[in-house]
Amino acid sequence: MSKSSEEEHPQKALGWAARDSSGTLSPFHFSRRENGDDDVTVKILYCGVCHSDLHTVRNDWGFTRYPVVPGHEIVGVATKVGNNVTKFKAGDRVGVGVMVGSCKTCECCQQDLENYCPRVIFTYNSHNPDGTINYGGYSDMIVVDQRYVVRFPDNLPMDAGAPLLCAGITVYSPMKYYGMTDAGKHLGIAGLGGLGHVAVKIAKAFGLKVTVISSSPSKESEAINRLGADSFLVSSDPSKMKSAIGTMDYIIDTVSAVHPLLPLLTLLKVNGKLVTVGLPNKSLELPIFPLVLGRKLIGGSDAGGMKETQEMLDFCAKHNISADIELIRMDDINTAMERLAKSDVRYRFVIDVANSLSQ
Ligand code: NAP
Ligand code: ZN
Repeated sequence: MSKSSEEEHPQKALGWAARDSSGTLSPFHFSRRENGDDDVTVKILYCGVCHSDLHTVRNDWGFTRYPVVPGHEIVGVATKVGNNVTKFKAGDRVGVGVMVGSCKTCECCQQDLENYCPRVIFTYNSHNPDGTINYGGYSDMIVVDQRYVVRFPDNLPMDAGAPLLCAGITVYSPMKYYGMTDAGKHLGIAGLGGLGHVAVKIAKAFGLKVTVISSSPSKESEAINRLGADSFLVSSDPSKMKSAIGTMDYIIDTVSAVHPLLPLLTLLKVNGKLVTVGLPNKSLELPIFPLVLGRKLIGGSDAGGMKETQEMLDFCAKHNISADIELIRMDDINTAMERLAKSDVRYRFVIDVANSLSQ
């Protein structure tokens, strides 16, 4: 018989897990592997709450293995490093994002695109190298191969900086890859949640003109006055949407639910690019006429590689970019998940793990 999750590894750990598709989280005792030669052990201080955590605990995508401990926006302090670890020492501020392993030899890994490695190991709901199921950052500690650990810059706040580990890299990477960083160009950002609000800040740091496209009229003044967007469109307001047709060079679509792409495609200029990063639980319909007649492009993007994640953190540190957060206790997580499902968060929940994780 295989060992229980509490006994399969030598180090004891405590986290919060969902046991079924109700998504309700509660305390969970499990274990972590011994710190190996290439590993860094991290005492987790803060962990952001990504909508992917919510999709996963509720099994929206159909591949959740319970119990699941979510969390992939992890910031903490290294407490132990293995003999081969050169990049970090005990006491360093470190971050862990959406992945904790990959094959290290394929074309993607060789190009620092570990996130696209066919054998990528995501931070939770994936497998450890020894085949056991792994657990994420809603927990007290984690053991991670140094390749998948980043330096957390001194001048970034550890709590408000945590969401950069997923939300930040997920919007930064497509801006770089799809050539969407030219100052003065017009970027639309669909969905003003965790990803969307960080996208506004990063895009402004590149000097872009930014329009938020939102289903929530109540977010308008914050988007402009606090986050720095240049304008705001309510997607359900036909006259405003009409007046913006053909005005945008690029759009990043962060919407977490099924929604029509047609209104977004019509906002783009000829040759415009729409990059979707949101992961709704069902396919979106592809309106082919505006694509073809406007020589438009639709692409996707999944987080980013480790080198680029470090580059993004350093960029955010340089430009004083962090998330706008609501800091919560671990036992507030179920209420926070309910609110996240209703787009009711300004603009990322972050769990104060070290000060609130208890039975
Ligand atoms: P979030 O904080 O919940 O933000 C999503 C936003 O989408 C909401 O704030 C809301 O913005 C909008 N929205 C939600 N439901 C909607 C609906 N029915 N119609 C129209 N708009 C709606 O989520 P997040 O953490 O930013 O994540 C967004 C999506 O990206 C999720 O699907 C997540 O799984 C995915 N994701 C992908 C990657 C990747 O690597 N590609 C990484 C992280 C997350 P408004 O109120 O402004 O309309
Ligand atoms: Zn995420």
